[in-house]
Amino acid sequence: KSFGEIEMCEALNENIKRRKYVKPTPIQRHAIPIVMARRDLMACAQTGSGKTAAFCFPIISRILGDRFGQVVVSGHGVRTRIAYPTALILSPTRELSCQIHDEAKKFAYQTGVKVVVAYGGAPIAQQLYNLEKGVDILVATPGRLVDMIERERVSLKMIKYLALDEADRMLDMGFEHQIRKIVQQMDMPPPGTRQTMLFSATFPDDIQRLASDFLSNYIFLTV
Ligand code: AMP
Repeated sequence: KSFGEIEMCEALNENIKRRKYVKPTPIQRHAIPIVMARRDLMACAQTGSGKTAAFCFPIISRILGDRFGQVVVSGHGVRTRIAYPTALILSPTRELSCQIHDEAKKFAYQTGVKVVVAYGGAPIAQQLYNLEKGVDILVATPGRLVDMIERERVSLKMIKYLALDEADRMLDMGFEHQIRKIVQQMDMPPPGTRQTMLFSATFPDDIQRLASDFLSNYIFLTV
């Protein structure tokens, strides 16, 4: 199966070609159609499996699909002090967040979908400035995001797509409290309104608890 056979936005397919990806990896082949079909997903995926694209592609594609035909995009293109991303990708480290940000930007190239990164251990001012210029997809580490929420510079009320990458590592690093705080910030949607994807290399009890707390009626995928 090729990327062309997976239903996604046309603009994204151009960027996949530009990036010279020919064949989807197993996780991409299975995860993308699940997310495009609006289902929650818990996926077992290792580094190097192509998991970044497995959640970035359908998120970008769904954002473009949502936007099509929409008359008003709230906050978009307007300079506001509070940023309202529609997608959030949480990852454990600065390095991983930057990697995801770089990839997501390439795949969102010329689509108008804006990707911003926020991580700890670096000055917050530039990151806040980037947020102010507009954001659709926010890639963040949990601690820095909680800081931005507490400063009232970002709101998660509009989040429709949430991806937790390397969830087991985030818990190992002690981020469970922050992650739960972050998810609590999202408006309680009618079931199925917010789509959540959880990626983890292992599935101990604490990860399964996160999945049952954050996901609804999810599909479990191991490749
Ligand atoms: P990841 O597991 O997301 O960190 O991806 C590992 C590496 O594989 C990255 O350098 C990606 O750019 C690359 N990659 C991901 N998906 C594909 C694909 N379908 N075809 C070729 N390379 C890919």
